[in-house]
Amino acid sequence: MNSPRDLGFSQFPKWRDGQWAAVQAAIDSDTRFTGLVLPTGSGKTLIALSWAALLGGRTVYVTSTKGLQEQVVHDHEDSGIQDIRGRASYLCDALGPRGALSDFAERLDSRQSDLAVCAPRRGDGAGCDQGPCYAGVKCDLRADGCGYFDALRAAQSATFVITNYAYWLRSGQYGEGLGPVDNLILDEAHAAPDELANALEFTITAADRELFCEVSTPGEGDPLADWADWASGLIRRTRQQAVGRPRTAQEAHRVLRVKSALLKLESLVRAALAGPDGWIIDSVETRSGRGTRFSPIIVAPSLETLAQGVKNVLLLSATLSDKTAALLGIPRKEWTKVEGPSTFPIERRPVIYIPTIRVDHRATPADLALWVGRIDQIIGQRLDRKGIVHTVSYARH
Ligand code: SF4
Repeated sequence: MNSPRDLGFSQFPKWRDGQWAAVQAAIDSDTRFTGLVLPTGSGKTLIALSWAALLGGRTVYVTSTKGLQEQVVHDHEDSGIQDIRGRASYLCDALGPRGALSDFAERLDSRQSDLAVCAPRRGDGAGCDQGPCYAGVKCDLRADGCGYFDALRAAQSATFVITNYAYWLRSGQYGEGLGPVDNLILDEAHAAPDELANALEFTITAADRELFCEVSTPGEGDPLADWADWASGLIRRTRQQAVGRPRTAQEAHRVLRVKSALLKLESLVRAALAGPDGWIIDSVETRSGRGTRFSPIIVAPSLETLAQGVKNVLLLSATLSDKTAALLGIPRKEWTKVEGPSTFPIERRPVIYIPTIRVDHRATPADLALWVGRIDQIIGQRLDRKGIVHTVSYARH
């Protein structure tokens, strides 16, 4: 392959050092899951999309942030890549002031509910996540004219689709889905176990309990199996509450609350089946009062929630390890890791250790002042250059 243009990526007239070799190495993998470890600045996105183009079929590219999603769309718009994101990112025109369902746009007291359904958003209107169509209200825009459903249809028929982990995981579990997919690219794949854990976590709120009309629920100390039994007993009754066509905002809101609660009951049953010991059950504060949160500590049993049966999966990262594959539950015989060389000469990337303080929760204000002073000292000698200060969390920025 002489250049990326031969694969349809017309914005890229030639391969950069190491790119074609990385594409070939990934293509040569004969396992379902391939980890491609490449340094920052090597053009990972082009390498991954070229891998997919050579394999053929439909590809979904999953990023960890909407910023990265936008960057990939911008850099590869000539390839016809179709962007899809969560319903909240699109305006629900039916709920707008002149919309056919504007009667459903009613402000609801957020203290009474954990769902902001049908409530106008800050700024210019309600999002499609608040669309009454999800409660069973007929909306003519769904077939043509709804920002979300138009984007979804375009994505379902596109060869290349880009989305974020939250949407991919949610649409696979509960949503409309993106149609058959042949190749899946997981960007920033070192974070995939956390993304999966976040998607699996759910909270039974006080408002949910109200809907179930239950006098008592299991307690936080009870095993997941007890919660799953409790949920199984409620699922049928709760389903019956979600039928019918709502006529008012309040009715639509109630149906959506019931549907949301139903998903949590089904998640409880699934969680118990997948591995009853791999969950933390704790009490948390929610808008409607105390709730019970279920958080997975082991995500391996839920690998297919992430991989969704796709036959070729490429995990892309600068810092991917075999441990990530193990955490995700990828069987050893289905895993190949390919590492590309850094394009920066080794003599130009020394690691220099300057003992200063230990930065953790025990650090005092004086320690932190010393730490910031040391950073200033280093930066002060290099004001003519750009640099990056890596911290362990946003709180320490
Ligand atoms: S289809 Fe649903 S989300 Fe889209 S405009 Fe209609 S009500 Fe809103």
